[in-house]
Amino acid sequence: MVGRTKKRSTDDDLERDDDLDMDYAEVDVEPTERHREKKPKISPYRITKGESYMSDDQLRHFNNILVQWKHELMEEVDHTITEMKEAGVLADPNDRATQEETFNLELRTRDRERKLIKKIDEAIQQIRDKEYGYCEACGIEIGIRRLEARPTATLCIDCKTLAEIQEKRA
Ligand SMILES: [Zn+2]
Repeated sequence: MVGRTKKRSTDDDLERDDDLDMDYAEVDVEPTERHREKKPKISPYRITKGESYMSDDQLRHFNNILVQWKHELMEEVDHTITEMKEAGVLADPNDRATQEETFNLELRTRDRERKLIKKIDEAIQQIRDKEYGYCEACGIEIGIRRLEARPTATLCIDCKTLAEIQEKRA
């Protein structure tokens, strides 16, 4: 144990599982339950020995996830708009009220999705600039594992936790 130096990427693999749960607890523009499931099923990245953090292969991997995710979200937005246009006006006032409620809910979901798409775009841009994967606040590596669970993460888990605590106090 003593004196053995480990690469950061290896440490990420050993990150506690509850770190991931914490990611999911985030609010604001986070994907809802449904969209989390919809996140593209791309198998987790396999780090080869001696590979450096955010190698070209890793960047490509996360780019694929983000591009696919965005694509799926945009399809959903389009789908809702089409559905609402086709729904028309219902004769029964009660039906109309229910329909309106459903639409309002849908619109709020779409709004969240648009915000998420914006975050995805920002992450894709960071990949292009080769700035992806580092904490905005302290500069350390966010870690493959965390990015796998939350590809739009811009803060490391420590800074994120701190930010959440501060948010609650405000
Ligand atoms: Zn940080």
